[in-house]
Amino acid sequence: MGPRRKGEKRRKAEENLTKVDEIADTSRAEKPSEGRINDVMRGKKGRTKGRKKFIGAHVSIAGGIWKAVEASVDIGGRSFGLFLGSQRCWQRPALDPDVAVKFQEACAQHGFDSAHILPHGSYLMNCGSPKEDVFARSQVMLVDELSRCSALGLTQFNLHPGASMGSSTEECIKRIAQAINHAHQQTPAIVTVLENMSGQGSTVGGQFNELKSIIDLVRDKTRVGVCLDTCHAFAAGYDISSTGGVKSMLEEFDQVVGLNYLRAVHLNDSKGKLGCHLDRHEDIGQGQIGISAFRDIVNEPRLDNIPLILETPGRPGFEYAEQIQLLYSLCED
Ligand SMILES: [Zn+2]
Ligand SMILES: [Zn+2]
Repeated sequence: MGPRRKGEKRRKAEENLTKVDEIADTSRAEKPSEGRINDVMRGKKGRTKGRKKFIGAHVSIAGGIWKAVEASVDIGGRSFGLFLGSQRCWQRPALDPDVAVKFQEACAQHGFDSAHILPHGSYLMNCGSPKEDVFARSQVMLVDELSRCSALGLTQFNLHPGASMGSSTEECIKRIAQAINHAHQQTPAIVTVLENMSGQGSTVGGQFNELKSIIDLVRDKTRVGVCLDTCHAFAAGYDISSTGGVKSMLEEFDQVVGLNYLRAVHLNDSKGKLGCHLDRHEDIGQGQIGISAFRDIVNEPRLDNIPLILETPGRPGFEYAEQIQLLYSLCED
């Protein structure tokens, strides 16, 4: 996800991961107008192309976690991202089993498979922190997040790997893997999905080889994957805006990490330029990446059947629903 605030907040990001990225989760709580819902639903039913593409968006859980499912339906999404609780507190109230059932029923009712839902981890966590207290709290939180996934019938969980905060990248990578291995011991089955980063501040995972190094240290390779964020990749220096850039990036990813690990994509244009290392999301086609890269993405067979999740700021008349429609309109088969 990308921060919407500038200057000072960006500087503070170095010290505190919570400030690096923030989604104004409540800003998406408003419902689209009735007319727009109908238009979107018609569009969804009428879609004949892009059947293998599961495009959706990061949606709000305001009012209850099951609301995320309804919000996804309203915008015509076929996949979605969500937080599993407040981004403000380390300790969240226990998940109400009735709420978990309600969420699972909503997913079943609207035909969302768990493979197309990718919860996003709390920004409070830094599993790579050299500070013992932060690391310990992050470990506990990661276990809690994975346990919540299990209770909600989810199968995968997306995580910003961590930030070295003055320690070496190597030490940071070891701690991240340690936290993941610990969480895997404590919780059954859930796949931990590492998100590539923009390289902002001391974050680790901007370069594919850093993701590979973490995966190498995760004991159960069946329980680790990667989510590629297009804005982060571009900001980290992977030029997907150029002709053939998407294919080149995927080939490099395949060589360094392996496409078998690719679980999802975060679809975001970038406010910042190539290699700027800034995590600043822009609406699809409105940023430095540009629309042709997104046309290549939605026509890329290697990205079939995985969640392709928007985390864009949105603007009047070009919110998630319209951006999803635009992306489906670019699908050639
Ligand atoms: Zn981001
Ligand atoms: Zn993210």
